[in-house]
Parts: sequence; C-alpha cells; structure tokens
Amino acid sequence: MKRRDFFATPLLFYPLLASTKERRKLIPVSHTSLSLFQTCPLWFQKKYIEKSVVEEETEALRFGNRGHKAIELGLLGKKELPSEFQYVTALMETVKEIGKHPATVLVEAGMALDANEQPCLYNEWDRKWVHGKFDVVIIRDAEAIVIDWKFGKVKENPQQLDLASFILMANYPEVKTVKTAFVFVQHNELIDGKHVRGSEVTERRFHQLRQEFARYKLAQIEEKYPPNPNGLCRGWCPNKVCPFWKPKRGEENG
Ligand code: SF4
Repeated sequence: MKRRDFFATPLLFYPLLASTKERRKLIPVSHTSLSLFQTCPLWFQKKYIEKSVVEEETEALRFGNRGHKAIELGLLGKKELPSEFQYVTALMETVKEIGKHPATVLVEAGMALDANEQPCLYNEWDRKWVHGKFDVVIIRDAEAIVIDWKFGKVKENPQQLDLASFILMANYPEVKTVKTAFVFVQHNELIDGKHVRGSEVTERRFHQLRQEFARYKLAQIEEKYPPNPNGLCRGWCPNKVCPFWKPKRGEENG
C-alpha cells in the first residue's frame, strides 16, 4: 500500500529527475506495453528499449491478425469476409445495425493522450504518452461503445477495459458513459464493462491506472527493470539469457 501511495504522488519528485533523464524518449503507455511491464520489467526492457528480443510469431497470432484485418475490411465495406471467418458475419451485422442509427462509427480508431491527459494525434510520437487502437468505436450522443475482437482464449482483463474508457473519455468530453466489450469471436462470448464519467467506481479505476502509469514512467526514468520470475519464464519469454529462463516442459533436452 505504501508503495502505491509513493507512486501516486509523482509530481513531488519528478522535477528532480526530469532535468536530465526524463528528456530521454519514454515508451508511451499502451495496453500491451503496460501489461508486459507489469508481468516482468526486464522482459519489457529487452523488448521495447533494448529491442534485443523478438517474439515468435505464432500461428495463433497470425490467425488473430488475419481476423482483425478481415473484420476491419468487412465493416468498411471494402472486402467480403473470407471463408475462414464466415462465422463472424452475424457479429458484424450487429455492429452495422447499431451503427445505422445516427452515430459516429470508427473502425481501427487510434487515439492518444499527452502527459497532461490532453488528446493528441495517434501519430504524434513526440507528444503522446498514452495510446490505444480500438477495433470499433460507436459514439451516439453521450454514450460510446468500444468493441475489441479477441481471437484467443476467453479471459478477463479489466485494466484493458479501463484503459479504453480512460482514453476515449479524454478524447470525447461529451461522452458520459463508455461501454466496453471484448468479443471472443470463436467462443461467441462477451466480456463487457461500463464506465460512467465522474462516478466513484470509474474515478477509482482511473486513479489505479494513473498509479500504474507513474510506476511505468519511473522505471524508465530510473532505468530500473528488475526481473520478475513468473510462469512465462518457462519457454514463453524470449529473453533466453535471463537466469530465470527455462525451456518449456518436455523440451528440456531439445
Ligand atoms: S525469463 Fe522470466 S524473469 Fe527473465 S525476463 Fe523473462 S519473464 Fe522476466
């Protein structure tokens, strides 16, 4: 608890650090980079800062990328869904139906915020501090829906839902309610969330996010990336030179 409080008051000590080290380009917060940092700061450092490890492109990842692209082009009316993704047709039609009513519908929408939580362009690399790309965003009056297609196993990720709402609310001040939905297309399952601007729950969730941003930033300023041994050390992490790395079970002699 003490540690969180310490990180929650970054402005008290950042000026001392900012004069020299903070001028270095920081890796902005994305759901992926923040999650990796939380999993293991050393892995994050090897991937994003040192760029000395390359993660294997698995078939599951390629499949997910193909699926995202197919849905994007389908929603934009640029290409029919290929046969391997025909089962997504009903979901796409639902989105199109929602979007028929007067609404702003954005597909593959990149949004970003600067260090003062002010909106900026997604490609403003010198300015942006937090960013996200959303598969579909539907905005109608004071309500927004953010949809993310998932092609992997069904799992909850409240932080990703929080981050999506955080970025969207800052970009669209008129939006009072954000509904977030992870659609696990292969399983026909949905994990959803709801954030109401100014509500106690939402403010608490956003406060937690800001604490995580501060921890992530401080690590980069201080260049401290300790290893955090975890289940992914068993062959999933690409940093094979780490003393905690081990081959996958069954591959010990290979
Ligand atoms: S092997 Fe484990 S501790 Fe080492 S960098 Fe990878 S995840 Fe971190």
